Amino acid sequence: MKDRTHSLPSFATYLNKGFALREHAANMRDARQNPVISPSSVFLALFHAFAFRLPSFKRLERDLQDSCLVDWIGAERSFGDDTLRYSLCGFQTAPLEDMLVDVNKRLKRSKAFDDGRVQGCRVAAIDGSEIISSFSRHCELCSERTVRHRENGKMVEHTQYFHRAVGCQMVHCDVKSFLGMEWQLPGEGEVSAALRLLDRLEQHYGRGFFDIILLDALYAQSPVLDRVQQSGWDVVISLKQNCPDLYQSAIRLFSRREPDAVVSEQRGHKIYDCKIWSTEGLPFANRTDLVRVVRSEEVLRRNRQRNGSSEEYASDSEWVWITTLPEKRFSPATVRLLGHDRWKQENNGWMDLTKHWDFKHGFLHACNHRPMITDAEGNKMPVANRGFHAVALIAIIAFCLCSAFVFRHSKLVKLYRLSAVDVARQLAAWIWQPPPTQPQDDS
Ligand SMILES: [Zn+2]
Repeated sequence: MKDRTHSLPSFATYLNKGFALREHAANMRDARQNPVISPSSVFLALFHAFAFRLPSFKRLERDLQDSCLVDWIGAERSFGDDTLRYSLCGFQTAPLEDMLVDVNKRLKRSKAFDDGRVQGCRVAAIDGSEIISSFSRHCELCSERTVRHRENGKMVEHTQYFHRAVGCQMVHCDVKSFLGMEWQLPGEGEVSAALRLLDRLEQHYGRGFFDIILLDALYAQSPVLDRVQQSGWDVVISLKQNCPDLYQSAIRLFSRREPDAVVSEQRGHKIYDCKIWSTEGLPFANRTDLVRVVRSEEVLRRNRQRNGSSEEYASDSEWVWITTLPEKRFSPATVRLLGHDRWKQENNGWMDLTKHWDFKHGFLHACNHRPMITDAEGNKMPVANRGFHAVALIAIIAFCLCSAFVFRHSKLVKLYRLSAVDVARQLAAWIWQPPPTQPQDDS
């Protein structure tokens, strides 16, 4: 019988040949002086922890002590949770960012982003997510909010500290690679961080890496439209009641006429019956240029079980988007599909990372045990904590490379319908295999 499992050597060969994993690992640097365990070993250990979907640094520590992982990554010797934390707190993030950009450029060259293009266009989505929150631990870069809750029958207020980041991810293809992420600074809104991210994306990847950006209602603002148009990108932005004038004028206009398209779409057991309207030339936020608005009225039909029998159940919803995509090339039904694609990021991006990748663990937030540096006046002080940025970057690099292995390389995934989690489990099991034994002499 053919082997149905993936081996770590095949995973490593794919990553080393296709994405120069070991060369990138050799470029890693941290703030420790002459460490016994190199930054490369720390990076490779955490990279494999994410690829194996290990739940914690403590679990990684056990694997480093008892399995063949130390030999596999070529580490100097076994090491523990304390070494990981001390190294990562002072990790340089530039080599990680360079690696992420290089991985994505290699993916593009290998045509990983060619599948699923919409009218020949590559589609990215930008969205924010809360990565860390705590009532006790905080650092100089934390954002704060007051949270009220009931304690012993009384309402009490507590300060909660948190960090949010904005990520950009390809969404039209199977390999939903993250192109970059940007942390929100204290007191800063998500849109400001996203505008900074767009500048960096253009600088690192150029304008033609993707063509259309999907955004949620928060981004329906003039500075966002100005920024994307400056780089020649198109947008589809979902619209809610936050732009009441535009929303109301679109609703009034569409209520007087028949829909421009009627579409029925089946997704698994769900059937969506949609009436879609589209119009160009509506004014938005005192701008001189006009925008196109697309509205979809949808009825979702599905069967549900009641009293032992199956009955049809229907629910309706309404969606409105503004877009810079021209009607001649992008039909109302295509804009609707793009608008719904934004949810693919929440289902496969941040949400996947937090639910299935233990993305929230081990973020070294407010970690005080850090390597020391000497400032210009000769004072010793701990290096700035870059731990949570480094861990997040290693997680999204692992996310991109594991997606590429699962969706672009593996034949077993298609043959046996394995999930990405199945593949991670198989790779994780490989480090616990007993070493090959010498053949026994039976004579
Ligand atoms: Zn903080």
